[in-house]
Amino acid sequence: MAGGGIIFDLDDTLIETTRYFNEAKERFRVLMEREGFPGEEAVKKLNEFDIANVKKMGGFMKECFPRALGQTYEYFCSLYRRTPDPQKKEEVERLGWELFTREIELVEGAEEVLKELAKGYPLYLATKGEPQLQLAKVKASGLARYFRRVYIFRMKGTAEYLYIARDAGLKVMESWIIGNSMKGDINPGIRGGFNCIHFDHPHTWDFEKEPPVGDFYRVTSLFEVLEIIGGEKRRLLVAEG
Ligand SMILES: [Mg+2]
Repeated sequence: MAGGGIIFDLDDTLIETTRYFNEAKERFRVLMEREGFPGEEAVKKLNEFDIANVKKMGGFMKECFPRALGQTYEYFCSLYRRTPDPQKKEEVERLGWELFTREIELVEGAEEVLKELAKGYPLYLATKGEPQLQLAKVKASGLARYFRRVYIFRMKGTAEYLYIARDAGLKVMESWIIGNSMKGDINPGIRGGFNCIHFDHPHTWDFEKEPPVGDFYRVTSLFEVLEIIGGEKRRLLVAEG
């Protein structure tokens, strides 16, 4: 008989991701200022190019961010009527490519919480992005063993979560979605009838923000998830929007 399961997001929920992007953006800001361009404005433009690239590609692809860095550099060169230096452009793009060679760092509590939850529930991972890249991250994280199955999508919406529930034989109303994105985890989960826990990670990509469409729980540490699921101490339900 079908029962409940727990579906986890990967990036910025179980492993650090956006923090590294933010560090790269900071290095970009410094580099652009050294070139005589306005740093803050450059980072703003970079975010615009980045999100536009992701939309154009129909989802996050590895090259979106490095390309956006180069585009921003060229944009400001043209704005200031300067000839772009190909070497400088390459240096700028390298800030983006370097992100993918970094070691995986787990979010605090990720391993402990999965280990505990796995004792009572089947766990699933639902992540979005480039399949090869996401799979490599799952493997490098050492967390794969806690999941019954890993799902990688180009985009995450209600249809994808309902697909998982069907595929894994989960009862939606008894299942949970845990993630840091209102847009990709919580709102699609609420629309699908799941119980949702928003992990309010201090580093969350602007692209993931969206007003809530219903009720959900909110935690600022993964350890709090244990208090909500199966715990006696129930936290207050967040009701917004
Ligand atoms: Mg995420």
